[in-house]
Amino acid sequence: MQKPTQTQKASARRRRPKGKRRATHPQASMDQVVILGAGCSGLYAALKLARAGVKVVVLEKEAIPGGLARGTRHGDNHYDLGVHMLHAFDQEVFEDMCEIMGDERIEAPLNAKIKWAGGFYRYPLQFGELIKGIPKLELIRCSLGLLFYPLWGRIWKKKPKNAEEALIQLYGRPLYEFFFEDFTTRYWGFPPAELSATFVTTKMPRLSAVDVIKKLLSTIGIKDHSLRAVETALAEETLHYSRTGAESMPRLLAREIERLGGRVLTEAEVQSVHRSGDRVTSVSYRESGSDGKICRIECDHLISTIPIPDFIRSMNGSVPPPVLAAADKLRYKPIAVYGLLVKKERALDALYVYYRKRCFHRVGEPKNAGLLVHPSDHTVLIVETTCEIDGPKWKGETEFLERMVLDLEAEGICTQEDIVESHLQKATHGYPIFALGFEPHLDLVREYIAELDNVCSVGRQGGFCFPNMHGAMRMGAVAAEKILDKMVHVPSPANQAAGD
Ligand SMILES: Cc1cc2nc3c(=O)[nH]c(=O)nc-3n(C[C@H](O)[C@H](O)[C@H](O)COP(=O)(O)OP(=O)(O)OC[C@H]3O[C@@H](n4cnc5c(N)ncnc54)[C@H](O)[C@@H]3O)c2cc1C
Repeated sequence: MQKPTQTQKASARRRRPKGKRRATHPQASMDQVVILGAGCSGLYAALKLARAGVKVVVLEKEAIPGGLARGTRHGDNHYDLGVHMLHAFDQEVFEDMCEIMGDERIEAPLNAKIKWAGGFYRYPLQFGELIKGIPKLELIRCSLGLLFYPLWGRIWKKKPKNAEEALIQLYGRPLYEFFFEDFTTRYWGFPPAELSATFVTTKMPRLSAVDVIKKLLSTIGIKDHSLRAVETALAEETLHYSRTGAESMPRLLAREIERLGGRVLTEAEVQSVHRSGDRVTSVSYRESGSDGKICRIECDHLISTIPIPDFIRSMNGSVPPPVLAAADKLRYKPIAVYGLLVKKERALDALYVYYRKRCFHRVGEPKNAGLLVHPSDHTVLIVETTCEIDGPKWKGETEFLERMVLDLEAEGICTQEDIVESHLQKATHGYPIFALGFEPHLDLVREYIAELDNVCSVGRQGGFCFPNMHGAMRMGAVAAEKILDKMVHVPSPANQAAGD
Protein backbone atom coordinates (compact mmCIF):
# COMPACT_ATOMS: atom_id res chain seq x y z
CA MET A 1 0.00 0.00 0.00
CA GLN A 2 1.28 3.46 -0.88
CA LYS A 3 1.51 5.60 2.23
CA PRO A 4 0.78 9.32 2.12
CA THR A 5 3.94 11.29 1.50
CA GLN A 6 5.28 13.92 3.90
CA THR A 7 4.22 16.68 1.54
CA GLN A 8 0.70 15.36 1.43
CA LYS A 9 0.66 15.12 5.19
CA ALA A 10 1.94 18.66 5.50
CA SER A 11 -0.51 19.98 2.94
CA ALA A 12 -3.47 18.20 4.42
CA ARG A 13 -5.76 20.91 5.73
CA ARG A 14 -7.97 18.87 7.96
CA ARG A 15 -6.53 16.46 10.47
CA ARG A 16 -8.16 13.58 12.26
CA PRO A 17 -9.38 15.05 15.54
CA LYS A 18 -7.49 13.70 18.54
CA GLY A 19 -9.39 10.95 20.32
CA LYS A 20 -11.88 10.61 17.45
CA ARG A 21 -10.15 7.69 15.77
CA ARG A 22 -12.41 4.73 15.39
CA ALA A 23 -14.67 5.79 18.27
CA THR A 24 -17.12 3.10 19.26
CA HIS A 25 -20.29 4.18 20.95
CA PRO A 26 -21.66 1.81 23.54
CA GLN A 27 -25.34 2.32 22.72
CA ALA A 28 -24.86 2.78 19.02
CA SER A 29 -25.71 -0.69 17.80
CA MET A 30 -29.37 -0.49 18.86
CA ASP A 31 -30.34 2.35 16.51
CA GLN A 32 -30.79 2.02 12.78
CA VAL A 33 -29.57 4.79 10.52
CA VAL A 34 -30.89 5.00 6.97
CA ILE A 35 -28.81 6.92 4.45
CA LEU A 36 -30.35 8.07 1.19
CA GLY A 37 -27.84 7.99 -1.68
CA ALA A 38 -24.58 6.07 -2.11
CA GLY A 39 -22.40 8.87 -3.47
CA CYS A 40 -19.20 9.90 -1.66
CA SER A 41 -21.04 11.68 1.16
CA GLY A 42 -23.53 8.88 1.87
CA LEU A 43 -20.91 6.15 1.69
CA TYR A 44 -18.46 7.95 3.94
CA ALA A 45 -21.18 8.71 6.50
CA ALA A 46 -22.09 5.00 6.41
CA LEU A 47 -18.45 4.01 6.90
CA LYS A 48 -18.15 6.20 9.99
CA LEU A 49 -21.35 4.78 11.45
CA ALA A 50 -20.56 1.17 10.60
CA ARG A 51 -17.15 1.53 12.22
CA ALA A 52 -18.88 2.78 15.37
CA GLY A 53 -21.02 -0.34 15.42
CA VAL A 54 -24.21 1.33 14.22
CA LYS A 55 -26.75 -0.52 12.08
CA VAL A 56 -26.66 1.38 8.83
CA VAL A 57 -28.51 0.89 5.55
CA VAL A 58 -27.74 2.92 2.42
CA LEU A 59 -30.41 3.20 -0.28
CA GLU A 60 -29.12 3.94 -3.77
CA LYS A 61 -31.33 4.18 -6.84
CA GLU A 62 -28.60 3.31 -9.37
CA ALA A 63 -27.28 -0.19 -10.01
CA ILE A 64 -23.81 0.79 -8.75
CA PRO A 65 -22.68 3.05 -5.90
CA GLY A 66 -20.64 6.20 -6.41
CA GLY A 67 -23.13 8.85 -7.52
CA LEU A 68 -21.32 11.48 -9.57
CA ALA A 69 -18.03 9.78 -8.75
CA ARG A 70 -19.03 6.47 -10.29
CA GLY A 71 -17.46 4.73 -13.22
CA THR A 72 -18.89 2.04 -15.48
CA ARG A 73 -17.28 -0.83 -17.26
CA HIS A 74 -17.81 -1.55 -20.94
CA GLY A 75 -15.88 -4.53 -22.23
CA ASP A 76 -12.46 -4.37 -20.62
CA ASN A 77 -12.47 -0.63 -20.08
CA HIS A 78 -13.69 1.73 -17.38
CA TYR A 79 -15.30 5.09 -18.04
CA ASP A 80 -15.70 7.75 -15.34
CA LEU A 81 -18.72 10.01 -15.22
CA GLY A 82 -16.32 12.93 -15.57
CA VAL A 83 -12.73 12.20 -14.51
CA HIS A 84 -12.74 11.91 -10.71
CA MET A 85 -9.59 12.07 -8.61
CA LEU A 86 -9.27 12.43 -4.87
CA HIS A 87 -7.47 15.41 -3.35
CA ALA A 88 -5.54 14.82 -0.14
CA PHE A 89 -6.68 18.06 1.52
CA ASP A 90 -8.71 16.37 4.25
CA GLN A 91 -6.25 14.18 6.06
CA GLU A 92 -8.78 12.06 7.90
CA VAL A 93 -10.66 11.28 4.69
CA PHE A 94 -7.40 10.74 2.86
CA GLU A 95 -6.00 8.31 5.43
CA ASP A 96 -9.26 6.38 5.47
CA MET A 97 -9.23 6.12 1.71
CA CYS A 98 -5.56 5.04 1.66
CA GLU A 99 -6.47 2.25 4.05
CA ILE A 100 -9.62 1.18 2.22
CA MET A 101 -8.22 1.37 -1.30
CA GLY A 102 -4.93 -0.30 -0.34
CA ASP A 103 -2.95 -1.31 -3.42
CA GLU A 104 -5.70 -0.09 -5.74
CA ARG A 105 -4.82 3.52 -4.97
CA ILE A 106 -2.36 5.11 -7.37
CA GLU A 107 -0.89 8.59 -7.38
CA ALA A 108 -0.94 11.01 -10.28
CA PRO A 109 0.65 14.44 -10.38
CA LEU A 110 -1.93 17.06 -11.22
CA ASN A 111 -1.49 18.13 -14.81
CA ALA A 112 -4.50 20.27 -15.66
CA LYS A 113 -4.38 22.63 -18.62
CA ILE A 114 -6.52 25.21 -20.30
CA LYS A 115 -6.57 26.01 -23.99
CA TRP A 116 -6.18 29.74 -24.15
CA ALA A 117 -5.10 32.12 -26.86
CA GLY A 118 -4.09 29.28 -29.16
CA GLY A 119 -1.85 27.56 -26.59
CA PHE A 120 -2.06 25.24 -23.60
CA TYR A 121 -1.43 26.67 -20.15
CA ARG A 122 -1.52 25.31 -16.65
CA TYR A 123 -4.99 25.52 -15.15
CA PRO A 124 -5.86 27.81 -13.46
CA LEU A 125 -4.22 30.47 -15.60
CA GLN A 126 -1.15 32.20 -14.24
CA PHE A 127 -0.52 35.91 -14.49
CA GLY A 128 1.96 35.90 -17.38
CA GLU A 129 -0.10 33.40 -19.30
CA LEU A 130 -3.29 35.37 -19.08
CA ILE A 131 -1.47 38.42 -20.36
CA LYS A 132 -0.11 36.49 -23.35
CA GLY A 133 -3.62 35.81 -24.56
CA ILE A 134 -4.95 39.36 -24.41
CA PRO A 135 -4.34 41.66 -27.39
CA LYS A 136 -2.34 44.77 -26.44
CA LEU A 137 -5.20 47.28 -26.65
CA GLU A 138 -7.51 44.95 -24.75
CA LEU A 139 -4.80 44.47 -22.13
CA ILE A 140 -4.65 48.20 -21.50
CA ARG A 141 -8.46 48.28 -21.09
CA CYS A 142 -8.38 45.27 -18.75
CA SER A 143 -5.59 46.77 -16.63
CA LEU A 144 -7.45 50.06 -16.37
CA GLY A 145 -10.56 48.13 -15.38
CA LEU A 146 -8.62 46.31 -12.68
CA LEU A 147 -7.35 49.64 -11.40
CA PHE A 148 -10.68 51.40 -11.58
CA TYR A 149 -13.11 48.86 -10.14
CA PRO A 150 -11.41 48.20 -6.79
CA LEU A 151 -11.15 51.97 -6.33
CA TRP A 152 -14.77 52.45 -7.31
CA GLY A 153 -15.75 49.55 -5.02
CA ARG A 154 -14.07 51.34 -2.10
CA ILE A 155 -16.01 54.49 -2.70
CA TRP A 156 -19.36 52.99 -3.65
CA LYS A 157 -19.42 49.85 -1.46
CA LYS A 158 -22.29 48.32 -3.43
CA LYS A 159 -23.33 44.73 -2.83
CA PRO A 160 -23.42 42.95 -6.19
CA LYS A 161 -26.91 41.97 -7.33
CA ASN A 162 -25.81 39.05 -9.47
CA ALA A 163 -22.77 37.11 -10.71
CA GLU A 164 -22.16 39.62 -13.49
CA GLU A 165 -21.81 42.48 -11.01
CA ALA A 166 -19.74 40.31 -8.67
CA LEU A 167 -17.32 39.41 -11.47
CA ILE A 168 -17.09 43.03 -12.56
CA GLN A 169 -16.32 44.06 -8.96
CA LEU A 170 -13.58 41.44 -8.79
CA TYR A 171 -12.03 41.78 -12.21
CA GLY A 172 -13.34 44.95 -13.83
CA ARG A 173 -15.78 45.15 -16.74
CA PRO A 174 -13.27 44.80 -19.64
CA LEU A 175 -11.77 41.58 -18.26
CA TYR A 176 -15.27 40.32 -17.41
CA GLU A 177 -16.39 40.90 -21.00
CA PHE A 178 -13.20 39.50 -22.49
CA PHE A 179 -12.72 36.40 -20.32
CA PHE A 180 -15.82 35.43 -18.34
CA GLU A 181 -19.06 36.48 -19.97
CA ASP A 182 -19.21 34.20 -22.97
CA PHE A 183 -17.76 31.09 -21.31
CA THR A 184 -20.01 31.35 -18.25
CA THR A 185 -23.04 31.80 -20.51
CA ARG A 186 -22.18 28.74 -22.58
CA TYR A 187 -21.45 26.63 -19.48
CA TRP A 188 -24.74 27.41 -17.70
CA GLY A 189 -26.96 28.08 -20.68
CA PHE A 190 -27.81 31.59 -19.46
CA PRO A 191 -25.84 34.81 -18.82
CA PRO A 192 -24.02 35.61 -15.53
CA ALA A 193 -26.62 38.34 -14.85
CA GLU A 194 -29.05 35.48 -14.13
CA LEU A 195 -26.68 33.78 -11.69
CA SER A 196 -26.41 34.71 -8.04
CA ALA A 197 -23.32 36.56 -6.77
CA THR A 198 -22.97 33.66 -4.30
CA PHE A 199 -21.81 31.54 -7.24
CA VAL A 200 -18.74 33.71 -7.69
CA THR A 201 -17.74 33.51 -4.03
CA THR A 202 -18.34 29.80 -3.54
CA LYS A 203 -17.69 28.09 -6.84
CA MET A 204 -15.48 30.01 -9.25
CA PRO A 205 -11.76 29.43 -8.91
CA ARG A 206 -9.87 32.63 -8.29
CA LEU A 207 -8.03 33.86 -11.35
CA SER A 208 -4.52 33.94 -9.96
CA ALA A 209 -3.40 36.53 -12.51
CA VAL A 210 -5.86 38.94 -11.02
CA ASP A 211 -4.59 38.23 -7.53
CA VAL A 212 -1.13 39.24 -8.66
CA ILE A 213 -2.41 42.51 -10.09
CA LYS A 214 -4.38 43.10 -6.91
CA LYS A 215 -1.28 42.41 -4.83
CA LEU A 216 0.57 44.95 -6.95
CA LEU A 217 -2.22 47.45 -6.38
CA SER A 218 -2.23 46.83 -2.66
CA THR A 219 1.50 47.62 -2.48
CA ILE A 220 0.66 51.13 -3.66
CA GLY A 221 -2.15 51.41 -1.15
CA ILE A 222 -5.10 50.35 -3.31
CA LYS A 223 -6.61 47.51 -1.33
CA ASP A 224 -9.49 45.42 -2.59
CA HIS A 225 -12.20 44.91 0.01
CA SER A 226 -14.65 43.45 -2.48
CA LEU A 227 -15.67 39.84 -2.86
CA ARG A 228 -13.24 36.98 -2.81
CA ALA A 229 -13.66 34.18 -5.33
CA VAL A 230 -13.10 30.70 -3.96
CA GLU A 231 -9.56 29.37 -3.46
CA THR A 232 -9.03 26.74 -6.11
CA ALA A 233 -8.02 23.23 -5.14
CA LEU A 234 -6.07 22.93 -8.35
CA ALA A 235 -2.69 24.10 -7.23
CA GLU A 236 0.34 21.83 -7.62
CA GLU A 237 -0.49 18.56 -5.92
CA THR A 238 -0.70 14.81 -6.14
CA LEU A 239 -4.08 13.30 -6.94
CA HIS A 240 -5.31 9.83 -6.01
CA TYR A 241 -6.91 7.47 -8.45
CA SER A 242 -6.96 3.81 -9.48
CA ARG A 243 -6.06 1.66 -12.46
CA THR A 244 -9.80 1.09 -13.01
CA GLY A 245 -10.68 4.75 -12.65
CA ALA A 246 -13.18 6.36 -10.30
CA GLU A 247 -15.24 3.22 -9.76
CA SER A 248 -12.72 1.75 -7.32
CA MET A 249 -13.28 4.17 -4.44
CA PRO A 250 -17.07 3.76 -4.03
CA ARG A 251 -16.85 0.03 -4.71
CA LEU A 252 -14.26 -0.46 -1.97
CA LEU A 253 -16.08 1.86 0.42
CA ALA A 254 -19.30 -0.12 -0.08
CA ARG A 255 -17.40 -3.37 0.44
CA GLU A 256 -15.90 -2.10 3.70
CA ILE A 257 -19.32 -0.92 4.96
CA GLU A 258 -20.76 -4.35 4.27
CA ARG A 259 -17.78 -6.07 5.89
CA LEU A 260 -18.55 -4.08 9.01
CA GLY A 261 -22.18 -5.23 8.96
CA GLY A 262 -23.78 -2.30 7.13
CA ARG A 263 -25.87 -2.69 3.98
CA VAL A 264 -25.63 -0.82 0.69
CA LEU A 265 -28.79 -1.52 -1.30
CA THR A 266 -28.54 -0.57 -4.97
CA GLU A 267 -31.49 -0.23 -7.34
CA ALA A 268 -33.40 1.01 -4.30
CA GLU A 269 -35.04 4.28 -5.26
CA VAL A 270 -36.46 6.33 -2.40
CA GLN A 271 -40.17 6.99 -2.94
CA SER A 272 -41.44 8.46 0.30
CA VAL A 273 -40.19 9.42 3.71
CA HIS A 274 -42.68 8.92 6.56
CA ARG A 275 -42.85 11.08 9.65
CA SER A 276 -44.34 11.14 13.05
CA GLY A 277 -44.27 14.69 14.39
CA ASP A 278 -40.80 16.11 14.00
CA ARG A 279 -39.15 12.72 13.46
CA VAL A 280 -38.73 10.58 10.38
CA THR A 281 -39.73 7.04 11.24
CA SER A 282 -39.41 5.06 8.00
CA VAL A 283 -38.57 5.24 4.32
CA SER A 284 -40.29 3.53 1.38
CA TYR A 285 -38.21 2.63 -1.63
CA ARG A 286 -38.78 0.89 -4.92
CA GLU A 287 -36.64 -2.10 -5.86
CA SER A 288 -36.12 -1.10 -9.47
CA GLY A 289 -34.00 -4.17 -10.25
CA SER A 290 -36.80 -6.65 -9.59
CA ASP A 291 -40.47 -6.15 -10.36
CA GLY A 292 -40.54 -2.67 -8.83
CA LYS A 293 -41.63 -3.93 -5.42
CA ILE A 294 -42.12 -1.20 -2.81
CA CYS A 295 -40.34 -1.92 0.48
CA ARG A 296 -40.39 -0.01 3.74
CA ILE A 297 -37.52 0.34 6.19
CA GLU A 298 -37.71 1.72 9.74
CA CYS A 299 -35.18 4.28 10.89
CA ASP A 300 -34.11 6.01 14.07
CA HIS A 301 -31.96 8.54 12.22
CA LEU A 302 -31.81 9.62 8.61
CA ILE A 303 -29.06 11.16 6.51
CA SER A 304 -30.23 12.34 3.11
CA THR A 305 -27.69 12.97 0.35
CA ILE A 306 -30.22 12.92 -2.49
CA PRO A 307 -31.14 16.23 -4.14
CA ILE A 308 -32.72 18.42 -1.50
CA PRO A 309 -35.87 19.19 -3.58
CA ASP A 310 -36.44 15.44 -4.11
CA PHE A 311 -36.07 14.84 -0.39
CA ILE A 312 -38.64 17.54 0.39
CA ARG A 313 -41.04 16.13 -2.19
CA SER A 314 -40.60 12.63 -0.74
CA MET A 315 -42.25 13.94 2.47
CA ASN A 316 -45.21 15.27 0.49
CA GLY A 317 -48.38 15.53 2.49
CA SER A 318 -46.58 16.76 5.58
CA VAL A 319 -44.66 19.63 3.96
CA PRO A 320 -46.20 23.13 3.98
CA PRO A 321 -46.89 24.46 0.44
CA PRO A 322 -44.41 27.39 0.71
CA VAL A 323 -41.59 24.91 1.50
CA LEU A 324 -42.60 22.70 -1.42
CA ALA A 325 -42.72 25.76 -3.67
CA ALA A 326 -39.26 26.86 -2.44
CA ALA A 327 -37.87 23.35 -3.11
CA ASP A 328 -39.23 23.51 -6.66
CA LYS A 329 -37.17 26.66 -7.23
CA LEU A 330 -33.89 24.83 -6.55
CA ARG A 331 -32.61 23.49 -9.85
CA TYR A 332 -29.57 21.54 -11.02
CA LYS A 333 -27.61 21.55 -14.25
CA PRO A 334 -27.48 18.13 -15.92
CA ILE A 335 -24.30 16.72 -17.40
CA ALA A 336 -23.76 14.42 -20.37
CA VAL A 337 -20.35 12.76 -20.44
CA TYR A 338 -19.04 10.86 -23.44
CA GLY A 339 -16.50 8.11 -22.77
CA LEU A 340 -14.58 7.33 -25.95
CA LEU A 341 -12.27 4.42 -26.65
CA VAL A 342 -9.77 5.86 -29.10
CA LYS A 343 -7.26 4.09 -31.35
CA LYS A 344 -4.30 6.19 -30.24
CA GLU A 345 -1.53 5.63 -27.73
CA ARG A 346 -2.08 9.07 -26.25
CA ALA A 347 -4.29 12.02 -27.20
CA LEU A 348 -3.58 14.82 -24.69
CA ASP A 349 -0.49 16.22 -23.10
CA ALA A 350 -2.31 16.52 -19.76
CA LEU A 351 -4.63 14.74 -17.37
CA TYR A 352 -7.40 17.00 -18.54
CA VAL A 353 -7.77 20.13 -20.60
CA TYR A 354 -10.41 22.85 -20.32
CA TYR A 355 -11.70 24.30 -23.58
CA ARG A 356 -13.43 27.65 -23.70
CA LYS A 357 -14.84 27.65 -27.21
CA ARG A 358 -15.95 24.10 -27.89
CA CYS A 359 -19.18 22.15 -27.44
CA PHE A 360 -17.50 20.37 -24.50
CA HIS A 361 -15.85 22.20 -21.61
CA ARG A 362 -13.33 19.60 -20.51
CA VAL A 363 -11.67 16.54 -22.01
CA GLY A 364 -9.88 14.13 -19.69
CA GLU A 365 -7.47 11.35 -20.54
CA PRO A 366 -7.38 9.17 -17.41
CA LYS A 367 -4.74 6.89 -18.96
CA ASN A 368 -2.33 9.74 -18.25
CA ALA A 369 -3.09 9.23 -14.55
CA GLY A 370 -2.53 5.46 -14.76
CA LEU A 371 -5.88 4.06 -15.96
CA LEU A 372 -5.37 0.70 -17.65
CA VAL A 373 -6.74 0.70 -21.19
CA HIS A 374 -7.32 -2.33 -23.38
CA PRO A 375 -5.79 -2.72 -25.89
CA SER A 376 -2.81 -0.89 -24.45
CA ASP A 377 -2.11 1.09 -27.62
CA HIS A 378 -5.56 2.70 -27.28
CA THR A 379 -6.67 5.42 -24.91
CA VAL A 380 -9.89 6.49 -23.18
CA LEU A 381 -11.16 10.04 -23.44
CA ILE A 382 -13.78 11.51 -21.14
CA VAL A 383 -15.58 14.37 -22.84
CA GLU A 384 -17.62 16.46 -20.37
CA THR A 385 -20.53 18.71 -21.25
CA THR A 386 -23.27 20.50 -19.37
CA CYS A 387 -26.64 20.15 -21.07
CA GLU A 388 -30.41 20.21 -20.86
CA ILE A 389 -32.48 17.12 -20.20
CA ASP A 390 -33.82 15.86 -23.53
CA GLY A 391 -31.51 18.19 -25.47
CA PRO A 392 -29.21 16.86 -28.24
CA LYS A 393 -26.25 16.27 -25.87
CA TRP A 394 -28.40 14.43 -23.36
CA LYS A 395 -29.95 12.22 -26.03
CA GLY A 396 -26.71 11.67 -27.90
CA GLU A 397 -28.26 12.94 -31.11
CA THR A 398 -26.28 12.72 -34.34
CA GLU A 399 -26.28 16.51 -34.66
CA PHE A 400 -24.32 16.81 -31.40
CA LEU A 401 -22.08 13.79 -32.01
CA GLU A 402 -20.97 15.24 -35.34
CA ARG A 403 -20.25 18.58 -33.70
CA MET A 404 -18.29 16.86 -30.91
CA VAL A 405 -16.13 14.94 -33.39
CA LEU A 406 -15.53 18.10 -35.44
CA ASP A 407 -14.40 19.92 -32.28
CA LEU A 408 -12.18 17.00 -31.22
CA GLU A 409 -10.64 16.98 -34.70
CA ALA A 410 -10.18 20.75 -34.68
CA GLU A 411 -8.29 20.44 -31.40
CA GLY A 412 -6.12 17.66 -32.84
CA ILE A 413 -7.34 15.25 -30.17
CA CYS A 414 -8.70 12.48 -32.39
CA THR A 415 -10.60 11.89 -35.62
CA GLN A 416 -13.83 10.04 -36.35
CA GLU A 417 -11.76 7.07 -37.60
CA ASP A 418 -9.88 6.90 -34.27
CA ILE A 419 -13.07 6.44 -32.23
CA VAL A 420 -13.67 2.74 -31.61
CA GLU A 421 -16.49 2.96 -29.05
CA SER A 422 -18.55 5.71 -27.47
CA HIS A 423 -20.45 5.43 -24.17
CA LEU A 424 -22.76 8.15 -22.95
CA GLN A 425 -23.24 8.61 -19.21
CA LYS A 426 -25.55 11.25 -17.79
CA ALA A 427 -26.56 12.77 -14.50
CA THR A 428 -29.64 14.92 -13.98
CA HIS A 429 -27.97 16.63 -11.00
CA GLY A 430 -24.47 17.62 -12.13
CA TYR A 431 -24.22 21.11 -10.65
CA PRO A 432 -26.58 22.99 -8.33
CA ILE A 433 -27.70 26.13 -10.15
CA PHE A 434 -27.14 29.21 -8.02
CA ALA A 435 -29.79 31.06 -9.98
CA LEU A 436 -30.55 34.64 -9.13
CA GLY A 437 -32.56 34.76 -5.90
CA PHE A 438 -32.08 31.09 -4.95
CA GLU A 439 -30.84 31.90 -1.42
CA PRO A 440 -34.17 32.53 0.39
CA HIS A 441 -35.63 29.38 -1.17
CA LEU A 442 -32.68 27.32 0.05
CA ASP A 443 -32.85 28.94 3.49
CA LEU A 444 -36.54 28.08 3.81
CA VAL A 445 -35.97 24.47 2.82
CA ARG A 446 -32.98 24.17 5.16
CA GLU A 447 -34.90 25.67 8.07
CA TYR A 448 -37.68 23.18 7.49
CA ILE A 449 -35.27 20.23 7.52
CA ALA A 450 -33.48 21.60 10.60
CA GLU A 451 -36.77 21.34 12.50
CA LEU A 452 -36.78 17.59 11.96
CA ASP A 453 -35.17 16.08 14.99
CA ASN A 454 -33.42 13.08 13.47
CA VAL A 455 -32.58 14.24 9.93
CA CYS A 456 -29.54 15.73 8.19
CA SER A 457 -29.41 16.67 4.51
CA VAL A 458 -25.80 16.84 3.32
CA GLY A 459 -23.41 16.39 0.39
CA ARG A 460 -23.44 18.12 -2.95
CA GLN A 461 -27.10 17.38 -3.66
CA GLY A 462 -28.39 17.41 -0.10
CA GLY A 463 -26.45 20.56 0.82
CA PHE A 464 -27.04 22.26 -2.56
CA CYS A 465 -23.38 23.25 -2.79
CA PHE A 466 -20.17 22.49 -4.70
CA PRO A 467 -17.84 20.34 -2.61
CA ASN A 468 -15.18 18.14 -4.14
CA MET A 469 -15.25 14.48 -3.14
CA HIS A 470 -13.33 15.04 0.08
CA GLY A 471 -15.66 17.95 0.94
CA ALA A 472 -18.74 15.82 0.33
CA MET A 473 -17.22 13.06 2.48
CA ARG A 474 -16.48 15.53 5.24
CA MET A 475 -20.15 16.58 5.19
CA GLY A 476 -21.10 12.92 5.52
CA ALA A 477 -18.69 12.48 8.44
CA VAL A 478 -20.10 15.51 10.26
CA ALA A 479 -23.65 14.16 9.87
CA ALA A 480 -22.50 10.76 11.18
CA GLU A 481 -20.78 12.38 14.17
CA LYS A 482 -23.95 14.29 15.03
CA ILE A 483 -25.89 11.05 15.12
CA LEU A 484 -23.24 9.31 17.19
CA ASP A 485 -23.29 12.17 19.69
CA LYS A 486 -27.06 11.93 19.96
CA MET A 487 -26.86 8.19 20.49
CA VAL A 488 -24.46 8.61 23.36
CA HIS A 489 -26.27 11.48 25.03
CA VAL A 490 -29.94 10.86 24.29
CA PRO A 491 -30.95 7.21 24.17
CA SER A 492 -33.52 6.68 21.39
CA PRO A 493 -36.96 5.17 22.09
CA ALA A 494 -35.63 1.94 20.58
CA ASN A 495 -32.76 1.92 23.11
CA GLN A 496 -35.11 2.68 26.00
CA ALA A 497 -37.43 -0.11 24.90
CA ALA A 498 -34.45 -2.43 24.85
CA GLY A 499 -33.66 -1.42 28.42
CA ASP A 500 -30.54 0.66 27.60
C1 LIG B 1 -17.93 16.33 -14.04
C2 LIG B 1 -17.48 16.34 -12.59
C3 LIG B 1 -16.16 16.06 -12.30
C4 LIG B 1 -15.73 16.07 -10.96
N1 LIG B 1 -14.43 15.78 -10.67
C5 LIG B 1 -14.03 15.73 -9.38
C6 LIG B 1 -12.68 15.38 -9.05
O1 LIG B 1 -11.86 15.09 -9.91
N2 LIG B 1 -12.34 15.36 -7.73
C7 LIG B 1 -13.23 15.65 -6.75
O2 LIG B 1 -12.85 15.60 -5.57
N3 LIG B 1 -14.51 15.98 -7.02
C8 LIG B 1 -14.93 16.03 -8.31
N4 LIG B 1 -16.23 16.36 -8.60
C9 LIG B 1 -17.16 16.61 -7.48
C10 LIG B 1 -17.71 15.27 -6.95
O3 LIG B 1 -18.29 14.53 -7.98
C11 LIG B 1 -18.81 15.51 -5.92
O4 LIG B 1 -18.46 16.45 -4.97
C12 LIG B 1 -19.17 14.24 -5.15
O5 LIG B 1 -19.21 13.13 -5.98
C13 LIG B 1 -20.54 14.48 -4.52
O6 LIG B 1 -20.92 13.35 -3.78
P1 LIG B 1 -22.34 13.33 -3.06
O7 LIG B 1 -22.46 12.04 -2.39
O8 LIG B 1 -22.50 14.54 -2.25
O9 LIG B 1 -23.42 13.47 -4.26
P2 LIG B 1 -23.76 12.41 -5.40
O10 LIG B 1 -22.53 11.78 -5.90
O11 LIG B 1 -24.60 13.11 -6.40
O12 LIG B 1 -24.62 11.30 -4.62
C14 LIG B 1 -26.01 11.35 -4.46
C15 LIG B 1 -26.53 9.93 -4.64
O13 LIG B 1 -27.93 9.90 -4.38
C16 LIG B 1 -28.51 9.01 -5.31
N5 LIG B 1 -29.95 9.30 -5.39
C17 LIG B 1 -30.56 10.39 -5.92
N6 LIG B 1 -31.90 10.28 -5.80
C18 LIG B 1 -32.14 9.11 -5.18
C19 LIG B 1 -33.31 8.45 -4.75
N7 LIG B 1 -34.54 8.95 -4.94
N8 LIG B 1 -33.20 7.25 -4.12
C20 LIG B 1 -31.97 6.70 -3.88
N9 LIG B 1 -30.83 7.29 -4.28
C21 LIG B 1 -30.91 8.48 -4.91
C22 LIG B 1 -27.76 9.28 -6.60
O14 LIG B 1 -27.92 8.23 -7.54
C23 LIG B 1 -26.34 9.41 -6.07
O15 LIG B 1 -25.69 8.17 -6.03
C24 LIG B 1 -16.66 16.38 -9.93
C25 LIG B 1 -18.00 16.66 -10.25
C26 LIG B 1 -18.41 16.65 -11.57
C27 LIG B 1 -19.85 16.94 -11.89
